[in-house]
Amino acid sequence: MVESAALPVTLTSPMPELEFDLTLYPAPVLRRVASPVEAFDDELHSIVEAMYRRMYASKGVGLAAPQVGLKKRILVLSPTGEEGDQQVLINPTILEKSGPSTLFEEGCLSFPGIYAEIERPELCKVRAFDLEGNEHELEFDGFASRIVQHEYDHLEGILLVDRMSPADKQRHKTALDNLVFDFKQAREKRARAARRP
Ligand SMILES: [Zn+2]
Repeated sequence: MVESAALPVTLTSPMPELEFDLTLYPAPVLRRVASPVEAFDDELHSIVEAMYRRMYASKGVGLAAPQVGLKKRILVLSPTGEEGDQQVLINPTILEKSGPSTLFEEGCLSFPGIYAEIERPELCKVRAFDLEGNEHELEFDGFASRIVQHEYDHLEGILLVDRMSPADKQRHKTALDNLVFDFKQAREKRARAARRP
């Protein structure tokens, strides 16, 4: 009989923590409709933890999974931007938007340095799941409602640039063109590296 384990096997060694980079416009994943989460498992917990870390490290108040390259219906938010104040919405559905529409300046971690006034209704009612797979109905107003609506857009492949006024699009043309240029450069660099023997 052969003993397979010549060295002690450590079963308790922790999984390496996930590390996410931000996905910037115009990466194609930002344009796809994200797919529902099906398993409320350890992997989902790791993903959400890594999304929280990415959001705080990037000084964001919200983040959607496509912004870290994942085509999954997960969004996180922290309206105060303070660590520990975060919330996750999994497979969210916006049931209702109501109240007066307000204009407010929005930024987006996928559009660094670009800000534009976007009009959105003041309130939204959402059905979503938590990390354990429990369903909740939640109401958001003010800034939190705005974050939820912005991040929900990401799950549908809708971006800040789509919500901007034509005047803002013109005003940000150079910055947007630069993002497209940088994306193409990075893609070519990756393709060259892949061709190298
Ligand atoms: Zn965004």
